[in-house]
Amino acid sequence: MHEMSLVTYVLNAVENKASGMGIEKVGEIGLVIGRLAAVPELMERCFQIARYQRPMFQEATLHIEMRDIRLRCRECGTEYSSQDAFGYATCPECGSGASDLLGGKELLLDYFVPAKEQNTGNV
Ligand SMILES: [Zn+2]
Repeated sequence: MHEMSLVTYVLNAVENKASGMGIEKVGEIGLVIGRLAAVPELMERCFQIARYQRPMFQEATLHIEMRDIRLRCRECGTEYSSQDAFGYATCPECGSGASDLLGGKELLLDYFVPAKEQNTGNV
């Protein structure tokens, strides 16, 4: 499943950073995901499966901020956004369906925080 490999990728990245900071358990993970990159419900489900196999994430929760698809019209240059997961949209100015993709495929690790009971005191 596409989302499972994304979740694995994210958890690997968090694990590397967190263990480098001396964090043993992660409490929260925040992701920014474009609507073309992944389905948030599947990300959440895969995360729930993956975290049981990884001691560092057993108490972690996942927060997902979705980014709309950003498009630029090839006819008139208008930039607009779409929430359609298939990326289909027409220009609000001229009605053209020809567009270039500006954004919506991003998958960014926004933040992670350690689990509360072992706060190291660092801000
Ligand atoms: Zn247009």
